[in-house]
Amino acid sequence: MEEQMQQSNGTDWTVEEECGVCSIIFSIYSKFPPMPSAQALNMETGEFFPFERVRKLKSGYAMAEALGVAWACNCRERSKKRFDEQFTLRDPNERALSDTLYTVRFPSGELKHGVTDHAGRTQRHKTDGAQAVRIYLGHRQSA
Ligand SMILES: [Zn+2]
Repeated sequence: MEEQMQQSNGTDWTVEEECGVCSIIFSIYSKFPPMPSAQALNMETGEFFPFERVRKLKSGYAMAEALGVAWACNCRERSKKRFDEQFTLRDPNERALSDTLYTVRFPSGELKHGVTDHAGRTQRHKTDGAQAVRIYLGHRQSA
């Protein structure tokens, strides 16, 4: 199965009002003592990064994103800045893959199945800014 990685555009994520999860995260991490050599883990990507970066973030939501736990909060649902994206699937020769079964995998792990239209376009899928979604050809039950 061929696999394509699509990165949604838009990185200017802002949240005006933070949910309980974010405010708790902020209250915990903003008060952490400096730990220059400590590493933090992004639970969504499995990547480690300097813990200091989390401490210095300005909002609980930004911290939750950095730690990969933003799916646990309500801010994403609340935000008006959700992206409504459509992807065009193409073969290696740039020909549109029309009437093709595909599966979108969101960072939350949620899978959505669909079929492209005559021009190889997927349905519109709501994503948040700066979120990576994966698109697989065919229908997958898990990814
Ligand atoms: Zn939140």
